[in-house]
Amino acid sequence: MKDLDMPPNAIKILDKGFVALLDHMGDDTTIVNAARVSFGKRVDKMSEKDEKLIRYLLKNRHTSPFEHVQFQFHIKCPLFVRSQWHRHRTWSYNEISSRYTEVKEEFYVPAMFRKQSPSNKQASIEEPADEYCFNVYEGKETPTVEAYIESCKLSVKQYRELLKAGVARELARAVLPQAMYTQFYGTVDLHNLLHFIELRIHPHAQWEIQQYAKALLELITPIVPVTVKIWKELKGMD
Ligand SMILES: Cc1cc2nc3c(=O)[nH]c(=O)nc-3n(C[C@H](O)[C@H](O)[C@H](O)COP(=O)(O)OP(=O)(O)OC[C@H]3O[C@@H](n4cnc5c(N)ncnc54)[C@H](O)[C@@H]3O)c2cc1C
Repeated sequence: MKDLDMPPNAIKILDKGFVALLDHMGDDTTIVNAARVSFGKRVDKMSEKDEKLIRYLLKNRHTSPFEHVQFQFHIKCPLFVRSQWHRHRTWSYNEISSRYTEVKEEFYVPAMFRKQSPSNKQASIEEPADEYCFNVYEGKETPTVEAYIESCKLSVKQYRELLKAGVARELARAVLPQAMYTQFYGTVDLHNLLHFIELRIHPHAQWEIQQYAKALLELITPIVPVTVKIWKELKGMD
């Protein structure tokens, strides 16, 4: 048995995260064959006619043939990204448990502390917030990044103290910040994956989860190149 490491084919995301494709079933021909089973026909290789069929299926929301293609991913992301991700109920998930294991001191430090958007209550803007903020631990103005790291480190330190005092892992973890990294496996079919990517690659989604959505699209492109090409065209993403 080995520790849960980053797979060699993983795409690195944020400062310590990644997404890797662990396994998959099917490709573009799986989709056309699922659609054509109605007529008792199948192909082994994609043709121009098959590309047209995929375009027709995507355009007319004939979605079930895309459900025959499946992907399993290994994801490492901050807890707040995980919360957004797990709202997508059509995925199957299994996650590392902080009841079974001690949480590692690994938390996300943004490369830029984006400003709150003045017009969209749930969004940020691509501009750095003031460089300094009040650090409650030191009682003085500190560079924002230092105050943030200090806060995360203190939470982790307190977590360790609670464990040392004999507090159960399942309770001690409650003091840990949303920035802590977690890892999970997620399995999903192509139809629901494209739905996820469309919602989470969108500029209205949080920047951090957008980075994961972009990586997912990159990972599946060599497996279903025709579908991705046509889907991007139809969504105006080219
Ligand atoms: C930019 C953005 C902001 C968001 N902000 C918030 C927020 O402030 N608060 C919040 O709570 N959530 C928020 N969400 C989450 C959002 O409401 C959805 O829960 C999430 O995007 C998952 O989408 P989904 O249900 O379509 O996906 P999935 O759960 O994967 O479902 C796919 C599709 O299957 C069908 N489906 C699945 N389960 C059911 C069901 N039980 N009943 C009926 N149909 C079902 C639906 O057609 C659904 O679209 C936000 C999402 C985005 C992208």
